[in-house]
Amino acid sequence: MKSKKVIVIGAGFSGLSAATSLADQGYEVTVLEKNATPGGRARSFEADGYTFDMGPSWYWMPDVFESYFNKFGKSVSDYYDLVRLDPSYTVVFGEDDFVDLPASLDELKALFEQWETGSATRLDKFLEQAAYKYEVGINQLVYKPGRSLSEFMSLRLLLDVLRMDVFQSIHTHIRRFFSHEKIIKLMEFPVLFLGALPQNTPALYSLMNYADISLGTWYPMGGMYKIIEGMVQLAEEKGVAFLYNQDVQEIEVEQGIARHVRTATGNFEADVVVGSADYHHVEKNLLAPAYQTYTDRYWDKRVMAPSCLIFYLGISKKLENLRHHNLFFDEDFGPHAHEIYTDPKWPAKPLFYVSAPSVTDASVAPEGCENLFVLMPVAPDLEDTEELRERYYNLIMDRLEHLTKQDVRSAVVFRRNYAHRDFIADYNAFKGNAYGLANTLMQTALLKPSLKSKKVKNLYYTGQLTVPGPGVPPSLISGQVVAKEVAKDYALAPGQRLPVSN
Ligand SMILES: Cc1cc2nc3c(=O)[nH]c(=O)nc-3n(C[C@H](O)[C@H](O)[C@H](O)COP(=O)(O)OP(=O)(O)OC[C@H]3O[C@@H](n4cnc5c(N)ncnc54)[C@H](O)[C@@H]3O)c2cc1C
Repeated sequence: MKSKKVIVIGAGFSGLSAATSLADQGYEVTVLEKNATPGGRARSFEADGYTFDMGPSWYWMPDVFESYFNKFGKSVSDYYDLVRLDPSYTVVFGEDDFVDLPASLDELKALFEQWETGSATRLDKFLEQAAYKYEVGINQLVYKPGRSLSEFMSLRLLLDVLRMDVFQSIHTHIRRFFSHEKIIKLMEFPVLFLGALPQNTPALYSLMNYADISLGTWYPMGGMYKIIEGMVQLAEEKGVAFLYNQDVQEIEVEQGIARHVRTATGNFEADVVVGSADYHHVEKNLLAPAYQTYTDRYWDKRVMAPSCLIFYLGISKKLENLRHHNLFFDEDFGPHAHEIYTDPKWPAKPLFYVSAPSVTDASVAPEGCENLFVLMPVAPDLEDTEELRERYYNLIMDRLEHLTKQDVRSAVVFRRNYAHRDFIADYNAFKGNAYGLANTLMQTALLKPSLKSKKVKNLYYTGQLTVPGPGVPPSLISGQVVAKEVAKDYALAPGQRLPVSN
């Protein structure tokens, strides 16, 4: 008997995870990717001896990566070397006001206590609750497909959910424990990964503080792209076929069933289709209107996570006063957040982030040189011109040079800019978003775009616009969740399983 053919659209984290999980169960899986290399928003590129990770730079929740590889009888260490960073990161609060966040909890507590008496004990209490949320959130909630309310109806889970502060904002929650301005900024920082204001983010997400403080910040030597290389290797070991430069143009549907996936050069038969490209793109551009579940109005009302302006810089010397991860919080986040979320426009006084992986990893820059990734979050759907990019390059460089007390600009030997237009051209990103759909209360679980199409029986979605949400660990989980749903709905008979390697 023949197996079932699954076509996965897109080779980002979620597509790789879905494809591998399905191939491991004996499905015949082909991944169609529009770009020449896998990785999606986590691709990398090389230029003049520098290796740049294009997207993610923070490796958080190492347990999620480990359990991903364990699921296939492998371990992270089979594919890349992980190191824990210490300090985890540095926050620049202002001139001569740099704070290293130590990896050790005891040292962090001592730092908190210097700022606010009693805050060390309160941090313990905060983290105890956050650990519980992480445990229930990561082990139970995020693996729910969000297809029906009944998934959340077990008594234990209902009681757990009540204890999880779903209806209180993290903004309020943090202020119940701490009042010092620096501590509040530090505790609110991880929420930025979720793409919404602390005021609009459920306190459930203090689980991100647990991830930050208790589980730590890690780095795969060679760069974040090592994760993608490892995942592709594993996928190929499981029999997944990858076809690159295959820009999908249409999902051909007959009587509510997706039959073929068409690219410029091929037409691929499918028993099941999994869209891991941006949900909006798959719905609006690849399906005929009759088969689209959500209206334009629905999409316009979604709260998107921000986009960003990025500068990839090759620096011809070693720099002073920079760690691997550096958060420039020398301006107030309030107005910048307002310009991202409530009154979308290019910011007047932006916060920004600088990653210098060459501080940890000599392989990503020529000897004696520095590799910089500079990122400024901005609202999606803004006008994106060369003039604007240049203006912000100069604004950020002025601040970087002033605060780190050195000349940087004259040592820039390589530079590439990246923003909205590139996100759209490279990934078909809705409104040029970088991080997908924000994790607000009204966009949680069942309230996200559904991972299964309501109009096309054998069409599923995965990735950062559906459950469980944006970020690398959630995308890894999203792929596993969708694979489970496919296997439930389109189970293989024993004789249909393709032989799978171990
Ligand atoms: C700049 C930046 C920094 C980030 N930093 C972090 C971080 O530090 N830590 C963290 O955990 N997360 C981070 N994230 C978020 C994280 O990278 C994403 O959540 C995750 O990579 C999304 O994976 P995905 O599979 O959902 O989507 P994608 O990576 O976008 O994958 C979708 C794939 O579909 C392909 N595709 C699109 N249209 C088509 C088509 N028509 N035909 C064929 N293929 C198509 C795309 O080319 C792409 O390869 C960051 C993201 C960005 C952009």
